[in-house]
Amino acid sequence: MKVLVPVKRVVDYNVKVRVKSDGSGVDIANVKMSMNPFDEIAVEEAVRLKEKGVATEVIAVSCGVQQCQETLRTAMAIGADRAILVQTDEELQPLAVAKLLKALVDKEQPGLVILGKQAIDDDCNQTAQMLAALADLPQATFASKIEVADGKAKVTREVDGGLETLEVALPAVVSADLRLNEPRYVTLPNIMKAKKKPLETLKPEDLGVDVKPRLKTLKVSEPPKRGAGVKVPDVATLVQKLKNEAKVI
Ligand code: AMP
Repeated sequence: MKVLVPVKRVVDYNVKVRVKSDGSGVDIANVKMSMNPFDEIAVEEAVRLKEKGVATEVIAVSCGVQQCQETLRTAMAIGADRAILVQTDEELQPLAVAKLLKALVDKEQPGLVILGKQAIDDDCNQTAQMLAALADLPQATFASKIEVADGKAKVTREVDGGLETLEVALPAVVSADLRLNEPRYVTLPNIMKAKKKPLETLKPEDLGVDVKPRLKTLKVSEPPKRGAGVKVPDVATLVQKLKNEAKVI
């Protein structure tokens, strides 16, 4: 069984992003970029499935600019066998990515597609669901446990106030939540090995997909600045201020 893992290149989660002065978006010039953290979890899960003998091949896919190659090399250093870059400089929205992934699902026929539950840059949480709809595959989102056996996947999902366990027939689309696993550290020998693994580059046109954006960002703004705090001398003053100024008690 092949496992396809889409990985997105995003601003590193440690970077404090700055909104561009014209409010058109976030400034990503000279900013550290990394693999979306949920996608690292997805790659780790796919590699563990291969190590257990459940999966035969793990294919990492990234859609975007040429530098996404670095993200794909990281996926291969974690343990993916090969990678596909769908290269474009066009801004990609979740629907366009889902269409590209659908074309790759048709081409590669994976038994499982494991995506991240959401990309930390756009926070869309849409691509997995759109892919499942376009490819007409069952979906199980926000997975915290995946067990594959007898052509089915048993997926435990974190829902409000508890856990839900679903069974989906394979092929299926699953999205990875934070507690699915803890991705391994990438070692230097594996980084070196990853450089030799195959990386195929395609264009959206090769897959017959029109990736033009459908949504227009009207404005991006910083959250309002917090006012300065005050120090109170004692509890009595605190209570008095909470009662009479903040009016919360
Ligand atoms: P989103 O719907 O944008 O929050 O993204 C959810 C997941 O879809 C991500 O965690 C990735 O697994 C996948 N994804 C989104 N955009 C891309 C992309 N440009 N290339 C590869 N995978 C992507």
